[in-house]
Amino acid sequence: MVVVRDELYVAGRWRRPHGQDELLVHGAANGAVIGIIPDADAVDVDDAVEAAKQAFPAWSTTPLRERLELIRRLEEALTARIDELARTITTEVGTPVRVSRLLQAEAPCRSLAHYRALLPELSLEEKIGSSVVIREPLGVVACITAWNYPLQQVLGKVGAALATGCTTVVKPSEVAPLSAFIVAEAVDEAGFPAGVFNLVTGTAESVGEPLVVHPDVDMVHVTGSTRAGRRIGALAAGTIKRLALELGGKSANVILDDADLAQAVKVGVANCFTNSGQTCTAWTRMLVPHGRLAEVEELVKARVAGYRLGDPLDPATNMGPLVSQRQQESVRGFIRGALDEGARLVAGGPEQPEETSVGYFVKPTVFSDVMPGMTIAQEEVFGPVLAIMPFDDDDDAIRIANSTIYGLAGGVWSQDTARAARVARRIRAGQVDINGSFFNAQAPFGGFKQSGVGRELGIHGLLEFYELKSLQYA
Ligand code: NAD
Repeated sequence: MVVVRDELYVAGRWRRPHGQDELLVHGAANGAVIGIIPDADAVDVDDAVEAAKQAFPAWSTTPLRERLELIRRLEEALTARIDELARTITTEVGTPVRVSRLLQAEAPCRSLAHYRALLPELSLEEKIGSSVVIREPLGVVACITAWNYPLQQVLGKVGAALATGCTTVVKPSEVAPLSAFIVAEAVDEAGFPAGVFNLVTGTAESVGEPLVVHPDVDMVHVTGSTRAGRRIGALAAGTIKRLALELGGKSANVILDDADLAQAVKVGVANCFTNSGQTCTAWTRMLVPHGRLAEVEELVKARVAGYRLGDPLDPATNMGPLVSQRQQESVRGFIRGALDEGARLVAGGPEQPEETSVGYFVKPTVFSDVMPGMTIAQEEVFGPVLAIMPFDDDDDAIRIANSTIYGLAGGVWSQDTARAARVARRIRAGQVDINGSFFNAQAPFGGFKQSGVGRELGIHGLLEFYELKSLQYA
């Protein structure tokens, strides 16, 4: 079935776009067209930004209780469609259905609940000497999102923006846009005032850049590649906008010599290959003491053998396809490049997996003896490719972990938690797990270095959406 969406959600109603072009959405499992969406234009962007600007004065002064009640209703409307959301994202992105309900639908909706719980705790005024320092909602926020966790990224931004009193224009990824239409329907059903949420679909060129340069957009909140982040940062500089950039990663999983190897490898491999490796925080580098390299390789091989590739809608599948042919070709290019640069192949490779003749599949692939200077150790691959890298001692491991332009996430394993924590503190990344842990959606999320600017989620994520004002008293 092809989902045809020919309207945008602007100023509280569905309307035909000014832009006359369309974009096709392809299913990850077989490349078939599964959706058609508007490719809007700069006139549509102007209209949406104007609607958000008009809605801002009333929305930003609406009592918090009323704003949070609308967010609760949004959560309710989305929760009623959880299966549809999970299935939509599985079809677009290829996340196996056995995990997509939790990862791609329930967890994103839960971030709305977290914001509702956290915001009343936030103190928006403090006295500093003769000043009262207040936080005011920032204004109109452009929310630009990637395709890998499409609902999480839209709700992570929109939930925080609306809760804090900002208004929004959302441009979802053109690769996986369909869940954003469901969000717009849920916003409508929840009864938000016109203009606080607007949905404009299109490409980076047709909608993204017009939003980023728009003089009435106060903040650009983006999840995407570091390449896009650089360009957006440069464009946003023209109007000195507030920026929050959630960008790429090349995270290190540091397994110290006294670690429980079986557990560290089990969690590490699962982390790297979740969503076919298309996860910004994926631990794509496994750092291992020289003396334990052979043991780790055997454990990794055994874990990789447990992956069953296939139709993501089949509950038996635990690794789906990549999102697109472009992504598949790009990942295979990295695998060939690693072979050319002398990395040792332990599992997988660049060929089409035997069990899947159609679909954008890539074999779960592992290299060992990867050196820090190799491309596979430096660049974000965004596919199921793990690089095992040997190190000499703790200092060497930290040096290697910090040797890329990125700093998004990481892990450290040791039987001695204090030692692991000492190493974790020296890793320049926004989120480092010690001996494995669950994702904490109330902790700040974001990157050091070229992994980004600002933080999403939790209290710290909410604080990004305010301006500070000092009222001076005589
Ligand atoms: P992408 O950079 O190609 O696109 C992301 C979004 O930005 C899309 O909506 C795109 O249309 C838009 N965009 C791109 N260039 C733009 C421009 N010049 N102006 C305005 N908008 C522009 O990324 P992608 O391929 O969709 O997603 C994968 C990337 O996202 C990976 O690098 C991944 O690490 C990153 N990511 C980061 C996080 C995080 O929280 N740090 C989370 C998920 C994904």
